[in-house]
Amino acid sequence: MTDTKPLLLLDVDGPLNPFGAPPHRRPAGYQTHRMKPDNWIAQHDGLPEHRVKPLRVWLNPAHGPALMALPYELVWATTWEHDANDWIGWRIGLPREQDLPVIEFGDQWTVRPDGTYVKTWPVVAYAAGRPFAWVDDQISDVDRAYVDRHHPGPALLHWVDPRKGLTEDDFAVLADWAARISTHNTPGAHQ
Ligand SMILES: [Mg+2]
Repeated sequence: MTDTKPLLLLDVDGPLNPFGAPPHRRPAGYQTHRMKPDNWIAQHDGLPEHRVKPLRVWLNPAHGPALMALPYELVWATTWEHDANDWIGWRIGLPREQDLPVIEFGDQWTVRPDGTYVKTWPVVAYAAGRPFAWVDDQISDVDRAYVDRHHPGPALLHWVDPRKGLTEDDFAVLADWAARISTHNTPGAHQ
């Protein structure tokens, strides 16, 4: 039955790394990490690695267990792409030995002509009709409209405040939505 679980598509910057909080007001429960993932070094136009200032990332080690406790299949939907497995997952308490699947976005980091966020159509393509919840700090109504038009299954596009990261309220929303989807998918349920 595991393939009937909805997908939970995870952004890093915003939901897991509340980068929008004031620099000297790290939110409670988070730890500070300084790291130089490949994508970060690549953004410094040929500067040698030792001269690149590390990226500060705040992560909450309670998030991994809380995410795993939800009735979803976890998937990265982040500009970190595969770096999320190497740099982020185990630091939030996800199992180190078990990489999550990654949605790849390529290098087309521009606004699309229809105004959707660059992640939106790859997310819909990846889900391929399967129910999904998506947590991200850059979701807009344009993206909701796109998903309504192009995704035949249930979808929850859940905006997360990048000043706070994932909160208990966000986890409750995700749990409630999964429970509703599961009720609707139960044979014999007609709602
Ligand atoms: Mg983000």
